[in-house]
Amino acid sequence: RETARDIEKGPTLPNTTVKLTHPDRIYWPGDGVTKQGLANYYAEVWRFMEPFVVNRPLALLRCPEGIDGPRFFQKHAWRGINTNIVAITDPKDKAGEKYLKINDFDGLIALAQSAVLEIHPWGTTTEHWERPDMITMDLDPGDGVGWSDIVAAATELKDRLETAGLAAFVKTSGGKGLHVVAPLKPKATWRQVKAFTKALADTMSKDTPTRYLSTATKAKRDGRIFIDYLRNGRGNTAVCAYSTRARPGAPVSMPLDWSDLGEDIGPAHFTLNNVATHLQKRSTDPWGEFFAAARPLA
Ligand code: ATP
Ligand code: MN
Ligand code: MN
Repeated sequence: RETARDIEKGPTLPNTTVKLTHPDRIYWPGDGVTKQGLANYYAEVWRFMEPFVVNRPLALLRCPEGIDGPRFFQKHAWRGINTNIVAITDPKDKAGEKYLKINDFDGLIALAQSAVLEIHPWGTTTEHWERPDMITMDLDPGDGVGWSDIVAAATELKDRLETAGLAAFVKTSGGKGLHVVAPLKPKATWRQVKAFTKALADTMSKDTPTRYLSTATKAKRDGRIFIDYLRNGRGNTAVCAYSTRARPGAPVSMPLDWSDLGEDIGPAHFTLNNVATHLQKRSTDPWGEFFAAARPLA
């Protein structure tokens, strides 16, 4: 039974058996964030983050010397990998190199121990590898695009996704933009899902070419938003909800309520240091019904 003191302390944090070596190692020098600080942050967000990170093939951005040191994106196992990071076989490439997933909180702490500063899952789980369970539309603003324009683009995407019979959720990227994410019942194939997202991006850029484009050509992006649908192909990834970013300020990709998208926040407003307070102040989890809201792609 919860006592008044327990409630004051907030929910019980998950336990781990994973040992952090060198817990004082600095990962974000400008912000004084250590390996222990990263593990503490993940303990705070675990109960919200879990369904978005477990049982999914992962691409991992590792920065053994912190964000100012060398960095590498890894999709496959490395020598001496922690046993809580699990090797999995791609069913379409049984002879190929194995992918990686985690099963539980120990796995997440093993990632922190391994200097993984960004976690990028596929939009599917290993139970239905060929049928994505979410769409991520990544809004990439070119130079000169303002926050209100990014919010307008996200809102237009929400309307269009809802018109297509899907639910739409929004998160900051922790970088420059927003991600609009739609839960799917895992029925359509990667090819069908990617075709749908391409058509969505193409339609938006055709309807308002002065504001949007749907091709990745950086040169033409000035003043416009690239509707990056390319996160939705087989093997592509997008940063995980609640993942930290290996950028100054220790920003995180933060799930929001649509009504949170005001002038007082921006794409990198939420950081490892302020998310726990924000979660405590919030009365409901805006992404709490994410998987319950899943619909099949028509
Ligand atoms: P921003 O708001 O700054 O755009 P973002 O996370 O959306 O943040 P993008 O550059 O738009 O960043 O997206 C790139 C995506 O491509 C990442 O989310 C990641 O999943 C993937 N990615 C990035 N680097 C690599 C890489 N080296 N190998 C494979 N995938 C990568
Ligand atoms: Mn982006
Ligand atoms: Mn992008």
